[in-house]
Amino acid sequence: MDPAISTAPTPLHAHLVAPARDLTQHNFAISTAPTPLHADLIARVRDLAQHNFAARVPAYDREAAFPAEDFDDLRRAGLLSTAVPPEYGGAGIGPHRGNVLTLWLMTKEIAKADLSLARCWEGHCNSMVLIDGMAHDAQKQRWFRGVVNAGEIWVAWSGEPQARASVQKTGFGTTTSKVDGGYLVDGKKAFATSAGGAHWAILLVSTAGPGGARHNTGIAETLLLLACDLSDPSVTVDRSWWDPIGMRGTASHVVQFDRTFIPDENLIGRPGQYLSEGWQTCFIPHYAATFLGAAEAAYEFCLEYVRSQDKSADPYIQHHIGQSAINIETGQLWLRHVAGLWDAGCHNEAQLAGGRARHVMEHLAEDTVKRSIRACGARSLNRPSSLERIYRDLSFYVRHDNDDHLLATIGRSLLGQQHDPSFFKP
Ligand SMILES: Cc1cc2nc3c(=O)[nH]c(=O)nc-3n(C[C@H](O)[C@H](O)[C@H](O)COP(=O)(O)OP(=O)(O)OC[C@H]3O[C@@H](n4cnc5c(N)ncnc54)[C@H](O)[C@@H]3O)c2cc1C
Repeated sequence: MDPAISTAPTPLHAHLVAPARDLTQHNFAISTAPTPLHADLIARVRDLAQHNFAARVPAYDREAAFPAEDFDDLRRAGLLSTAVPPEYGGAGIGPHRGNVLTLWLMTKEIAKADLSLARCWEGHCNSMVLIDGMAHDAQKQRWFRGVVNAGEIWVAWSGEPQARASVQKTGFGTTTSKVDGGYLVDGKKAFATSAGGAHWAILLVSTAGPGGARHNTGIAETLLLLACDLSDPSVTVDRSWWDPIGMRGTASHVVQFDRTFIPDENLIGRPGQYLSEGWQTCFIPHYAATFLGAAEAAYEFCLEYVRSQDKSADPYIQHHIGQSAINIETGQLWLRHVAGLWDAGCHNEAQLAGGRARHVMEHLAEDTVKRSIRACGARSLNRPSSLERIYRDLSFYVRHDNDDHLLATIGRSLLGQQHDPSFFKP
């Protein structure tokens, strides 16, 4: 399915539409279809996903192993530089480059094969977007060269949940202090996606104390983005913590920093810039693209399964198939809408719409997966079954951000209350 889209009304036509009730207070913009060049990028990643990634995913899932061979394929295909600007040798795809839909559709294709790989890929591409938007030229020269020429993999690590779970032995958190010529980072981060596979991590740390970007209650100006070379011997990966229900191949281990020195030249942007400019909002709809991939994969599995069982005449199955297809179409329309706002430079509206899209897509994807399970039955949850894995992966990945809080932020914006589209503030 590739929904055709009517463009927004011209000013003349908009004038003819009675403005009876404006429920959304924002424009409806739609990203145009990808250009042939961008369609080729999507086709290349789809080809890899279907022919290479899908076959490897059961082993990565079982072993909770970083999908290293998939990243080798992405490197060989030149796709690791997708979000690197063209002036530094990349394809120049991203939210500030007028073509973000292409990136999200590439992510969706990867997620259809493997949600964990999609998370690792998101982390890499999102890091490229941050460097493009916040780093200075010498840093871009240095780091983009490593990606384009040497296939270096990046990721962004904030995760320092502060409230200790009752089953947890020790807490997480880093302290960061200024020293001569740089910074010392000490402590632990959890949910460090791509740990053991990535070469560089953008650490979101605060000189005010533990908590990263999401869980820190200190003043925003203390939040720093520090590029950390993960080959530094003071950085170690603790593989004993990560044994989750799903998203196992993200290898989101605990990483320990033992007074890791990060030089001044690795500070990205100004202190607090990440929060004051709302950079997280570039990435929230990217998660929705991954959820959409889960929905499409479950739907396609279901379609093939019920056809093979000759159940197409069953009216309940017809309902599940019909509703799932509508869910997917709705998700595709939402992504196009948010991408259109980014492309049109309507950044404030894009930031809020991204949260709406992520909220909607979480529910549409979960509904589609549940319908697929109902239509296919118990055997579809017996391994090996991609539906079984998608069910586990999705139920875990949607915990990356709190949907109740997202919805509260949307409500606050409509009620004229103070709100932050990046992170919920109680
Ligand atoms: C597969 C996966 C990959 C991830 N990869 C990365 C990554 O690469 N980089 C990264 O930085 N992070 C990553 N994360 C981490 C994620 O961003 C969160 O930090 C993590 O999910 C927090 O864990 P938690 O839900 O157990 O923690 P908690 O912070 O304990 O949250 C539990 C629940 O309580 C809510 N909550 C928290 N504080 C409050 C409060 N004060 N009042 C009311 N409710 C509250 C939360 O919203 C949440 O719903 C990843 C998460 C997942 C699931």
